[in-house]
Amino acid sequence: MKGSQKTRGEKGSSSGIGAGAAVLFAKRGCSLALTGRDEARLQDTEKKCLDAGLKEDMVLTVVGDITDQKTREELINRTVEKFGKINILVNNAGIFAPCLIKDIEEKDIDFLFDLNVKSVVMLTRLAVPHLLKAKGNIVNISSVASTIHLHAATLYCMTKAAIDAFTQAAASEFGAQGIRVNSVNPGAVKTPTFSRAVGGDPDLLEKLYDAQAKFHALQRMGETDEVAETVAFLASDAASFVSGTTLYVDGARRAMAGMTAS
Ligand code: NDP
Repeated sequence: MKGSQKTRGEKGSSSGIGAGAAVLFAKRGCSLALTGRDEARLQDTEKKCLDAGLKEDMVLTVVGDITDQKTREELINRTVEKFGKINILVNNAGIFAPCLIKDIEEKDIDFLFDLNVKSVVMLTRLAVPHLLKAKGNIVNISSVASTIHLHAATLYCMTKAAIDAFTQAAASEFGAQGIRVNSVNPGAVKTPTFSRAVGGDPDLLEKLYDAQAKFHALQRMGETDEVAETVAFLASDAASFVSGTTLYVDGARRAMAGMTAS
């Protein structure tokens, strides 16, 4: 990575994997545009980036809902106004929402696809003209759930499969113009996603972590830092010939899914 010459826009950076990636990019001297709906959490991530050594004039925060086109336009426009360019787009904002097919309503489909898929496509469209100028790249945060079915998470799995398809399509469409597009596909990673799932109960959270750990050959969950390192690799010049790839950071969860008892 070329350090401070890089400007990175990130969708969904106020928490979890996005916040972890923001801090790592800050350590590596990238200017950052961070976004999310929760202003307090966004400020917390900004502070962590400053504590990691980022200068105050190298970070921009944009509060808003990324499913709203106005927020997407504001994020891109303000990033370019402040930094003059965009080198890297990380499409991270996304949500896990459990559901069985028998219970799915139209509004559930709209909600999950709006955030996990449509906002990725639309933000990418807005960023591409700037990425073209910078010969930049895109990292989409997909999931191991794009290729293995997670129980009662049909819509979520479908959205992440769509992200893998979009990653390949965008890598094909923009490759000749020098833009690389990849996705990172994590297994279960310790983020607020899991604490929300158990209503913040610490005992239930430990049980959930133990249960999740067993799905991975490495017998543990991932940490946000481990995903962040992979995002930073794909965004860096070290990955200059890597494009159209779905890179699993999943402790061999996908490999385990193919195992049968013998
Ligand atoms: P978190 O809930 O910790 O973070 C989600 C981020 O997305 C937050 O910054 C949140 O900000 C932002 N976000 C959510 N909805 C919106 C919205 N409508 N508009 C703007 N920002 C939004 O989740 P994770 O870190 O766990 O997940 C991040 C990504 O990683 C997701 O795409 C998820 O699917 C993927 N993933 C996570 C895994 C895990 O085990 N944790 C495994 C595989 C993939 P705010 O709330 O402030 O709006």
